[in-house]
Amino acid sequence: MLRDETRQALTGTDNEGYADIAGRVSDLEDQSLADLLVDVNLAQVTRDVEEIRAVERALRRIALGTYGVCVSCGQPIERERLEAYATANRCAVCQRAYEHDHATTRTPRL
Ligand SMILES: [Zn+2]
Repeated sequence: MLRDETRQALTGTDNEGYADIAGRVSDLEDQSLADLLVDVNLAQVTRDVEEIRAVERALRRIALGTYGVCVSCGQPIERERLEAYATANRCAVCQRAYEHDHATTRTPRL
């Protein structure tokens, strides 16, 4: 059951878990609202984790001396791009190509 796994994943973290949210809305007896909140919360958790991973990758590239170099074409990443998006690991051209290739494989729907 995907829903059970979701519940487990959330209750296993320090973030507001399913039980927490479900308990708070139990007065309303609105289980579907609890489910909705869990979905939103899970999306937020996923974003946070990806952000942390991106920062970790950026720190590793700084340590290796490859920070600011496009991982796809090896050219320096545009300065304006790094200022707007410090964890960028591709130049604008390669990022567009990458996102085009991966556009349909991200953000699974629950
Ligand atoms: Zn590039």
